[in-house]
Amino acid sequence: MLSPWTTIRELRALLDRKEVSQEEVIQFCYDHIARYDGAVGAIIDLFDMKQVTAKKATTGLIADIPGIIKNNISVQGERMTCASRILENYHATYDATVIQKIYAQGGIPLGSSNLDEFAMGSSCEYSALKLTKNPWDLTRVPGGSSGGSIAAVAAGMAPWSLGSETGGSIRLPAAWCGIVGSKPTYGLVSRFGLTAYGSSLDQVGVAARTVYDNALVLSAIAGRENPVRDATARELSASYNLTDGLTGAIQKGLRIGVVDNAVNAVGMSDDVKALLAQALKVYEDLGAQISWIKLSTMELSAATYFIISRAEATSNLARFDGIRYGYRSPQASDLNSTYTLSRTEGFGDDVKRRIMIGNYVLSHGHADAFYRRACAARAQMRAEAEKIFAEVDLLFMPVAAQSAFILGACADNPLQMDLCDYFTSWVNLVGNPAIAVPCGFTANGMPMGFQILAPHWQERLLFQSAYAYEQATPWHTKHPDLNRL
Ligand code: GLN
Repeated sequence: MLSPWTTIRELRALLDRKEVSQEEVIQFCYDHIARYDGAVGAIIDLFDMKQVTAKKATTGLIADIPGIIKNNISVQGERMTCASRILENYHATYDATVIQKIYAQGGIPLGSSNLDEFAMGSSCEYSALKLTKNPWDLTRVPGGSSGGSIAAVAAGMAPWSLGSETGGSIRLPAAWCGIVGSKPTYGLVSRFGLTAYGSSLDQVGVAARTVYDNALVLSAIAGRENPVRDATARELSASYNLTDGLTGAIQKGLRIGVVDNAVNAVGMSDDVKALLAQALKVYEDLGAQISWIKLSTMELSAATYFIISRAEATSNLARFDGIRYGYRSPQASDLNSTYTLSRTEGFGDDVKRRIMIGNYVLSHGHADAFYRRACAARAQMRAEAEKIFAEVDLLFMPVAAQSAFILGACADNPLQMDLCDYFTSWVNLVGNPAIAVPCGFTANGMPMGFQILAPHWQERLLFQSAYAYEQATPWHTKHPDLNRL
């Protein structure tokens, strides 16, 4: 029997035993979306199922399993809005590499999901198209920028979704909606067809309700397809499958470094600290060796991320000028007014703020003080990462200091919104893989997760360790009360 909480692993068994068909699975998701998305607001468009089913393979890692795609990833023929007015009517002309891989592994891209405009934000409130709410409490944000993808999976609309990370956009909403969110090593997944935000940081990643499901979908999308299309993406063997190592045990003698200056940072709420302490106890009981370490460069990461991401966004967004893609102002009368009016009317406030900051930090006379210093700080972070990962196998730290905030709470304070990247952006800057795993509920009944970080290309270790924790705890079996939606 299908339920909104059926996992991919369970679905596989039902499909293989022919207890359900692909059509029934798709219909189940459609009905669930029709019933609950009015309240949650996660979905932008449902895709043309004729096209999708014609393209997909009949076998593969995720054969006949539907999922939701963040709407900054190209799915041929479908709208790719980036939740921006400037791309509101833009239709993708090709499939992203991750979409080609989903098809090749039999998966079903079911529809697209809401995000902060161009993936810039931490709450999903910067979408120009719609408001997404947290399925655990509709008065709260789901987190962002992949808020739609994460809320959809948390509300049972599909068992997996793709999101993207530049500075924490999968892990933060995953922690705030009580599901598993992964950010792979920079280069594990091809960026071809992902709308660029900060190209040296961007990665596609996965959200799912369990670690196993997350590992499976990440295995399906990992690896490059054509080196010309993303020269930073790695070639992987055809049998790459991260679920192989999931035994429920941790590696013998696993050394976990707990980031003291994160767990005990100013502003960390007591209930989140208590949840982190409980999670550590679980790892201790599983046999891990816990040590407390200081990650000094983490304190530079939010500021460094702020500068580098804005600088890269400025050049990446230059292509949206009213000529080649998307919206063109009807008021435009010549070249200059085409640029100015189309961009003024097409971009939202936060995107404009970022473009201005990016131009400022790159401009003559300021680049040394900002951009180059940020690059130097990033080099320091990488050096520290290398040193620390020689001493410990994994790092353990919070994803956020508090649970999901009330809608509108940061409306007058964009800096407060930017501080949501405080614990997440360090790993994006150093390029290592990380995963957010649910670890219980804060005093107000909202879900929370912790994150673990691994050395480059150590996804296997990361997922094995996350899976062992998950199997020892009940959190992945807790879901929001749909009757309240
Ligand atoms: N909150 C961060 C930002 O706004 C993260 C975004 C992301 O990872 N895409 O830049």
